[in-house]
Amino acid sequence: MSARLDLIEVFASAQGEGPYVGASTVFVRLGGCDLRCSYCDSPGTWLPAKRWRLETAVGSGEFETFDNPASIEELEAALKRLDFARQRFVSVTGGEPLLQPHAVRALGELVAATPARFLLETHGLAVEALEEVIDCVDVVSMDWKSPRDARYAGAGNEAEFASQHKRFLEIAKANSEVYVKLVVTEETTADEVVGVARAIAEVDPTIPFVLQPVTPFAKVRTSPGPEQLLPLLQRAQEHLADVRLIPQTHRAYGAL
Ligand code: SF4
Repeated sequence: MSARLDLIEVFASAQGEGPYVGASTVFVRLGGCDLRCSYCDSPGTWLPAKRWRLETAVGSGEFETFDNPASIEELEAALKRLDFARQRFVSVTGGEPLLQPHAVRALGELVAATPARFLLETHGLAVEALEEVIDCVDVVSMDWKSPRDARYAGAGNEAEFASQHKRFLEIAKANSEVYVKLVVTEETTADEVVGVARAIAEVDPTIPFVLQPVTPFAKVRTSPGPEQLLPLLQRAQEHLADVRLIPQTHRAYGAL
């Protein structure tokens, strides 16, 4: 094993988003992202960091720091300190984990030797990188992004983003469990949500679709209200079998 990883942090918590909300999870956050979403709540992950931090024990909230890049052996030792084999999930997040597919694969192989499930959180645009790692991923948590979020290599306008997302979703669906999340801001329109729901349905109408109201952070001061969210839920479920409205929950127990 020789993979080197640009890490931001490794910590234990409960899953704060999506259909597995509340499940015990060790998070491995990788550094670097090629989008710049206006609502991003982790801008400190956009660039690789010189050092990464490890929570000293589950729930301690205390951290030790180490130099980047980390070796896979260092990561394995960190995971063991957080008893990763006894958690329901190990989640690789970011940043964008698929900028380091070798790291995702190395981590996936560690998790595969345990009962924990390996969950990939991703912006859902890096199709070639997904193909490199999908055989070691149990669950793909795919965000649906738009050009409003940022330009992406090979995908500049709405149609190109949608086409890239659909290719990504097809690969994920064929090889693992997958669900799609859409962050809903006050600017999100019903036409946008219906467009995403239709595109998902063209891949498979049973893929779960999570509408996630944006959590106020930094420049985002407000969150959409029920008068916006509940009609979006109604419109989306005209096209898909499993649409859910799930806010982020991790702030409730002090996680970032
Ligand atoms: S893809 Fe994720 S980490 Fe990257 S800018 Fe968007 S929200 Fe932030």
